[in-house]
Amino acid sequence: MRFEEASRIKNLPPYLFARIEKVIAQKKEEGIDVISLGIGDPDMPTPEHIIEEARRQVGVAENHQYPSSVGMLSYRQAVANFYAKRFNVELDPKTEVVSLIGSKEGIAHISWCYLNPGDVVLVPDPGYPVYSGGAILAGAEPYYMPLTAEKGFLPDFAAIPEDIAKKAKMMFLNYPNNPTGAVADEEFYKEAIAFAKKYEILLCHDNAYSEVAFEGYKPLSFLQIPGAKEVGIEFSSVSKAYNMTGWRIGWAVGNPDVIEALGRFKTNIDSGQFQAVQCAAAVGLNGLQDAVEANNEIYRERRDIVVDGLNAMGWNLPKPKATFYIWAPVPKGFNSASFAEFVIEKAGVVVTPGNGYGDQGEGYFRISITMPKERIAEALERMKEKIGKVEF
Ligand SMILES: *Cc1c(COP(=O)(O)O)cnc(C)c1O
Repeated sequence: MRFEEASRIKNLPPYLFARIEKVIAQKKEEGIDVISLGIGDPDMPTPEHIIEEARRQVGVAENHQYPSSVGMLSYRQAVANFYAKRFNVELDPKTEVVSLIGSKEGIAHISWCYLNPGDVVLVPDPGYPVYSGGAILAGAEPYYMPLTAEKGFLPDFAAIPEDIAKKAKMMFLNYPNNPTGAVADEEFYKEAIAFAKKYEILLCHDNAYSEVAFEGYKPLSFLQIPGAKEVGIEFSSVSKAYNMTGWRIGWAVGNPDVIEALGRFKTNIDSGQFQAVQCAAAVGLNGLQDAVEANNEIYRERRDIVVDGLNAMGWNLPKPKATFYIWAPVPKGFNSASFAEFVIEKAGVVVTPGNGYGDQGEGYFRISITMPKERIAEALERMKEKIGKVEF
């Protein structure tokens, strides 16, 4: 029996990494030591005081029952405390914070709350694939806003056609940005909020990398900008800040009507996250941030190895101020896929082809620095030896 899939899942874009995964498997079979700089997933452990709290809470009987879909009040209070301390943003934990099973869950589900079939949603290209994925599953139509090097990988709102802007119901933004490593300043957010107000667009800001930043740079929360709460919400989580990607706990904060709708949606499909996990995440959010600082110093060192290494080969890359990604153009004569394949063939190093993040990512590749620095240094050494100087 072969069952006909629903059109909503048939319409999802094809999986672009299939070919490169085949090459990786083949190299490993040949006994080649493959260094993967592909996936962006912190390699360092969750801080011990967070793990300790989880251990303790696992033994507490009331945590063994169904949690609330919108999160324990103590967890939502911890998120509010973090926003007050870190961004000087006041949030009512009862009405302006909802817990998520990782921010990915909320990013996918917000489309179900605000988009009808055929509705337009503005999505950055290149971008985190869940923005368009969630929207397509809800039957909506993404309009891709190009992020180009000339504009600092920020969307150009003036270039969005008037009829599209009028039709758009929702927009996703993400700074510090995956995959480009770009950051946004207050001016940009003001422009985004003015645009959202003018066209009555729900603005969803993804701040997954707010705590991964270097040399004193402190990314903003979109909610710090006047008027933000009227037009939108912000997603984030403990995943990238405290090396907790596997724990699956995040939040959405901001506009109370939107937070309520997302919470109402969630009560129909999930029962929240295990309370022991919420308690552990709360300890991270309420506690000292020195583990975050230590992590960032390690990422900074790794970032410098990659950028200095590539620049010595002929690239001319700036050092990103935030995120654990380096976004770089492919050399002359390559496209994203052929360069990724070339690097694994020649050097046994995995980089992510940029077109996996959207059409505008064609001609780029992404390196993730979630690997020990010795391995990253070896990857760059191999690239230098086997590929040598490049031209553009
Ligand atoms: C990692 C990531 C997320 C989601 O992380 P969660 O673990 O689901 O909280 C969201 N957006 C971007 C851009 C990311 O890179």
